[in-house]
Amino acid sequence: MQHSVSIRDLSLNFGSVKVLEHLNLDIAQGEFIVLLGPSGCGKSTLLNCIAGLLDVSDGQIFISGKNVTWEEPKDRGIGMVFQSYALYPQMSVERNLSFGLRVAGMPKDEINRRVARAAEILQIQPLLNRKPANLSGGQRQRVAIGRALVRDVDVFLFDEPLSNLDAKLRSDLRVEIKRLHQRLKNTMIYVTHDQIEALTLADRIAIMKSGVIQQLADPHTIYNKPVNLYVAGFIGSPS
Ligand code: ADP
Ligand code: MG
Repeated sequence: MQHSVSIRDLSLNFGSVKVLEHLNLDIAQGEFIVLLGPSGCGKSTLLNCIAGLLDVSDGQIFISGKNVTWEEPKDRGIGMVFQSYALYPQMSVERNLSFGLRVAGMPKDEINRRVARAAEILQIQPLLNRKPANLSGGQRQRVAIGRALVRDVDVFLFDEPLSNLDAKLRSDLRVEIKRLHQRLKNTMIYVTHDQIEALTLADRIAIMKSGVIQQLADPHTIYNKPVNLYVAGFIGSPS
C-alpha cells in the first residue's frame, strides 16, 4: 500500500545540535496523526521539514509516493495552519481566503466556488467582508484553517493551531477539526503539547522526546500500555 506521507531516516541538525535523529514514520491516507511532546522536542521542526520550510540534513520525505525532499513547499500538495494566524491584516476574510489562488492564476469562478465551500464548511460566511482586526481569536483561526482548505490538498499540517485560544474555544474548535477530518477524509498531521487534544483527535499518536519518537500507537494503547516511564509520565500528567 502507498502511504500518504513517509519519513525515511530523517535527521536535522542546527549547527552541531541534533534536533531530529534518524526518524521514520509512515502515515496512511486519511489518517489523523498527532505529534505530541513537550516544548523543544522537535515537533515544529519535523512539521516544517514535511512542509519544506526547513532543509533536512539527511533522509527523505515522500508524499503520495513522490520523493519531495527537495521540492518547493508549494509543490508538495500540503496545506499548513500555524499557531499564530498569519492573516493579511489589510485584506478582508474573502481576500485572505482567495489570495493564494489568485496568485496561482486560478479562474475566478473556481476561486469563488472554493471560497464558498470553505466558508460553508467552517461556518464563516457572515464574516467574508470583515477584516481580521474585527474577528475574535476563534474566528481568525477558522479563517486560517480556511486558507489551507481552499487549496484542496491531500495533506493538512497543523502546528498547535489552538494554543492561543481560551479553554472553551479550544474544545469547540477541537470538535470542529474532528468534524472537518471526518468530512474531508484527508491526511492530517497535528502538532500539540496538549494531551487531551492528542487523545481526542488522533487515530495514532507519536510521542516525541528530544527528536526521537518514543512510541507510535493509537490513543488507547498509548494511554493504557505506555512503552516507558517517559510516555507514561507525559500522557498521564496534566498539561
Ligand atoms: P517544539 O515544536 O517541539 O517545541 P522545535 O521543533 O521548535 O520544538 O525545536 C526543537 C529544538 O530545536 C529546540 O531545542 C529548539 O531550541 C531548536 N531550534 C528550533 N529552531 C531552531 C533554529 N532555527 N536554530 C537553532 N535551533 C533551533
Ligand atoms: Mg513548536
